[in-house]
Amino acid sequence: QALQEIGLSDAGAGTIQDIVSCPGTDTCKLGIAASRGLAAELQSRLAAKIDSLPEPVKGLRIKISGCFNSCGQHHVADIGFFGNSRRSGNYKMPHFQVVLGGRWRDNAGSYGLAIGAVPSKSVPEALEVITRRYVEDRQPHETFQDWIARLGKVEARKLIAPFMQLPAFEEQPEFFTDWGDPRIFTLGDIGVGECAGEVVSLFSMEIAKAESALFEAEVALEQGDATRAEDLAYQAMLQAARALVLTQFQDVGHEPDRIVEEFKTRFYDTQLFYDPYAKGKFARYLLERHTHPPVRVDGDVAHQRVDEATLFIEATHACEARLASQPLLI
Ligand code: SF4
Repeated sequence: QALQEIGLSDAGAGTIQDIVSCPGTDTCKLGIAASRGLAAELQSRLAAKIDSLPEPVKGLRIKISGCFNSCGQHHVADIGFFGNSRRSGNYKMPHFQVVLGGRWRDNAGSYGLAIGAVPSKSVPEALEVITRRYVEDRQPHETFQDWIARLGKVEARKLIAPFMQLPAFEEQPEFFTDWGDPRIFTLGDIGVGECAGEVVSLFSMEIAKAESALFEAEVALEQGDATRAEDLAYQAMLQAARALVLTQFQDVGHEPDRIVEEFKTRFYDTQLFYDPYAKGKFARYLLERHTHPPVRVDGDVAHQRVDEATLFIEATHACEARLASQPLLI
């Protein structure tokens, strides 16, 4: 009764419906997606069917952050999500990166595996697909973390691949809103002209190559090939930097020294790449790796580089979105 009086008597504590979320875009000015809105949506869907959920699913933990700063502790959840955005045509679409198999027991012993970003509005269906497959595949007494480790990144990504195809705004405008916020995300007039439109699609194509290299790096890491994983993660950062430079300077070419020099001059020295919270930290991941390649690569070095490339690519998306939403000076 005392808990009821202060609004803390909801059922489901310690079950999958007991979702942790940071404030996200509701009140945090660093937020990219509506983590609290997503938590409310998942909570109400899960509460409606909690009695019929299989026991292994009932015991899972979901944690959600509104951006990659991780205040919602998405990295140490069975199923975690952190907010980001992707572009479809001239519009931004709120997304959540899916992170599976983080260890919240054992003093948060290990981080989860980022397997790809899905539109915010597809998260409930993606969650359904993941939990259903877990129930079908798991061996007796196998934990979610052990199942994800056994499944591997390639197979895990296949689970959410159908949700990664982005509809056009004209086809499904509801995908361009976030949970609990009916406003349409838009980049305004930027990119509607022929030339600007060309640059927008060029960025999208180039950043997709960076994400593909990062995925290959993660697979190499999973297969124990640390040297290849480290190099691919570096290549992914280079490719992402090139994608950004191309929005200002299309003759950058493919030579690493030139890409890094142009990136540094145009985006680091000018602080355009600066994250509001981490400042120039993500840019320095590339600058330092380019200047000081590792003498010896082991699993820890490769793991760190893959983590850095993940954050660098997210920061590249955020930087491009910030710049694209600024009014053009004519
Ligand atoms: S994770 Fe991001 S959105 Fe959430 S509280 Fe931290 S900085 Fe804000």
